[in-house]
Amino acid sequence: MSSGEGIKTKVVTTVVSSGILAILGYVAIRIWPSFEKWLIDCCSFLVSILTANMAIPVWLFLPVIIFAAIPLFQILISLRKQSPLEPTWRDYRQGEYFDIIWKWDYRLNGEIINVVAFCPKCSLARTIDPHRIGAYASQTDFICDECGKIGDASGDNIEVWNKVIRKIDRDITTDEWKKK
Ligand SMILES: [Zn+2]
Repeated sequence: MSSGEGIKTKVVTTVVSSGILAILGYVAIRIWPSFEKWLIDCCSFLVSILTANMAIPVWLFLPVIIFAAIPLFQILISLRKQSPLEPTWRDYRQGEYFDIIWKWDYRLNGEIINVVAFCPKCSLARTIDPHRIGAYASQTDFICDECGKIGDASGDNIEVWNKVIRKIDRDITTDEWKKK
């Protein structure tokens, strides 16, 4: 068997299993709302049996328990699939650019705002003066009151701010932020 056939088999297996998973997922989502009602019905049926003064064989409870257990099992699987704790790009609010720590916020439309620089060496509570512009305004020095010059970047402070915003934007677009 050639390696090409091996790859083909793998591709077919992947496609088929993806298809099955997609169908299962679709079915689970479609029938999800009815399961809750079903579960309630099963429970009320169980309660009515338990509260009724009738002699009912024990084995009759078995299918009830099984039918009640299926949706419960599916609820558990569904809850496991959901991962609300997984961070999104909106959680990326701090990063290092030009050897400086930057913090920022987002508007609802995703626009990056409130970009503030912090010294990476001392307290992160200390902001760095954004207006220290080098000779001929061609360079911005990042100066911490405690540690002195931390770094620099070409361009005046507004240009540097725009560069930082573009870098953040690029890291979000390329998913690079996930590695940080
Ligand atoms: Zn410092």
